[in-house]
Amino acid sequence: RRLREMVHRDGLTGLLNHATLMAELEHAVEFARRHGETFAFMMIDVDHFKRVNDRYGHLAGDQVLLHVARVFQTTARASDMIGRYGGEEFGMILRRTDRTGAGILGEKLRTALREQPAVVGAGEQIPVKVCIGIAAYPEDATTASDLALLADGALYRAKAGGRDRMEFTREMRARTA
Ligand code: GH3
Ligand code: MG
Ligand code: MG
Repeated sequence: RRLREMVHRDGLTGLLNHATLMAELEHAVEFARRHGETFAFMMIDVDHFKRVNDRYGHLAGDQVLLHVARVFQTTARASDMIGRYGGEEFGMILRRTDRTGAGILGEKLRTALREQPAVVGAGEQIPVKVCIGIAAYPEDATTASDLALLADGALYRAKAGGRDRMEFTREMRARTA
């Protein structure tokens, strides 16, 4: 069982790895379609993370990522699925949550990070800020690939808007319906 767990989890944070998160996104679409439910997909990217590595080193950078993962786990619901999308990017599948609910969690995550800076090395405190992009099923899209694309697009707009921001999907029901 331990081996099977390891295959599905990210080695550093213990969160779901990329492949597992994407498989869960497919499952979430099927489940929501069958049960007439809503859910949201959220993408989160740490702001200016390269600076942390440059200033404190990669080991400290890893500690910061671990801290961010813990803050997400303690702030989200147990039913929310959290994955490490890659590098300093995270993804969350929020069961039975619409766009508004996802926005509320997004603000909670930002507040929690503000209140709990990462502590590295000899007790140096590193404040962490993030950008968040949100897409909701079925409001914004009805396939896993479209939801991922739209959440990523919203994340990109948050970054372009100047960091430390959250954006929702603008295009309603993009392409497929
Ligand atoms: P932005 O605000 O645009 O997101 O800036 P950024 O610096 O966060 O973004 P960029 O994509 O330029 O850099 C991401 C950095 O994350 C670069 C890479 O070295 C670092 N990184 C990725 N994975 C890991 C990891 O596992 N550990 C550490 N320490 N750093 C990592
Ligand atoms: Mg990134
Ligand atoms: Mg980043």
